[in-house]
Amino acid sequence: MTEYEAVIGLECHVELSTATKMFCGCRNEFGAPPNTNVCPVCLGHPGSLPVPNREAIRRIITIGLALGSEIAPHSLFHRKNYFYPDMPKNYQISQYDLPICVGGHLDVEVPNGQGSRVGITRVHMEEDTGKTTHGSPSGRIHDADAALVDFNRAGVPLVECVSEPDIRSPEEAGAYLRELRATLESLDVSDVRMEEGSLRCDANVSMRPVGDTELGTKVEIKNMNSMRSLERALAYEISRQTKALETGEPIVQETRHWNEDAGATATMRSKEEAFDYRYFPEPDIPAIEPSAEWIEELRAALPELPRARRERYVAEHGLKDEVVRVLVADRTASGLFEQTASLGADPAAAANWITQDLAGLANKHGAEAAARVTPRHLVDLLALLGDDAISGAGAKQALEDVVETGDDIGAIVERRGLRQVSDSGELGAIVDGVLAEHDDASRKFRDGNESVIGFLVGQVMKASGGSANPKLAQELLRDRLQG
Ligand code: ADP
Ligand code: MG
Ligand code: ZN
Repeated sequence: MTEYEAVIGLECHVELSTATKMFCGCRNEFGAPPNTNVCPVCLGHPGSLPVPNREAIRRIITIGLALGSEIAPHSLFHRKNYFYPDMPKNYQISQYDLPICVGGHLDVEVPNGQGSRVGITRVHMEEDTGKTTHGSPSGRIHDADAALVDFNRAGVPLVECVSEPDIRSPEEAGAYLRELRATLESLDVSDVRMEEGSLRCDANVSMRPVGDTELGTKVEIKNMNSMRSLERALAYEISRQTKALETGEPIVQETRHWNEDAGATATMRSKEEAFDYRYFPEPDIPAIEPSAEWIEELRAALPELPRARRERYVAEHGLKDEVVRVLVADRTASGLFEQTASLGADPAAAANWITQDLAGLANKHGAEAAARVTPRHLVDLLALLGDDAISGAGAKQALEDVVETGDDIGAIVERRGLRQVSDSGELGAIVDGVLAEHDDASRKFRDGNESVIGFLVGQVMKASGGSANPKLAQELLRDRLQG
């Protein structure tokens, strides 16, 4: 039987977090009351004229530089014509054959797999549309009796980043999107929140016999709202197309919609219904011609990118690849790590607590609550752990308390009675008392029954009201029994 491989290319849309919109002075903010950030330009009133946002141009050039693109010395805005109720001009200002950023690549690391390089075809500048909400219980159009349009998003600067069809699996697509997200986050150009729509992704996927170099017929999938739905939608589509190929069913070039609840894709529109956008140069905006000096200035100002940061963490702190991957995928986590390490905490321990326990608490209590944890909290927690003044379990409790209350570690440890007795004098007295009471157990131990040590440690814990350091208790017991 023929073996097939998947060929995937992603088109990612990124809303820039500039103060104002792309072609007017309206505020660019998420969550404002509907239709409050609007003006004649973004509402498409006749006679209004667009003026490009310089900061948005700066940001897209920065993105291109981070992705290794060529920055075009001359690029154009075009009008992309189509009708949509939430697009008041009936055309979208976008870029066509002369985008600002051409070519480039993103190196990604697939979990439990090899690194790979995904080519970038182009990165171009456009404007977002408004947002339609369908007044129906399901939110879908078919059973709605009203459509509400909010134009706050109309004209928000939007960067589209198109990849080459270099991706071969859902996991690699997920890794690409995570790396792109981390890169954009490090550049401080966008909120990159998939759940708020400031990072959106369409996936193109086709299958071909392994070894073939020609591309198969592709399907475009839309409406994936998370990293997880991207991977799920691709896995579904790969198996659907593979089955079709194996049974000789033709694959049609079409756009399909991912239905999260059904866990399946469904036809949205076929090639025959594809739009003819009648692109033509936007007559109201001159060519974008950034000076070579400006481009070099922006290149010199690039921050440390995730890949370089991962390499530095490995080199400087000897952290493991998996830990570094999780740490650097999230700027809050890596910021917390850097500050905690710079305050003198053990980097490996800090990284583990941040990527494991704190990440778990963020899932349980929410990111906002997890943000209560400061570098100082971690430094104090790790110091107490290092001195055996609290147990691992106690430290976990204390960290959860920080997430809930934001209180100091010292106060929490006292309030919860988490401090362990690690003083060998104080604990030695308790140990002596336990041994005096349990003659028989001591005898069994001396006769070679090692396992009673567990019982004796339990008795020490009990006698201390749970505050004894069990490791030290065991040491002291052995000392006395063997001595
Ligand atoms: P369109 O004009 O339909 O948007 P493009 O050629 O511009 O198509 O490509 C859009 C995206 O689809 C790119 O990310 C590209 O890498 C990807 N792509 C193109 N052809 C294929 C294919 N046969 N299989 C998978 N992905 C593809
Ligand atoms: Mg497309
Ligand atoms: Zn406006």
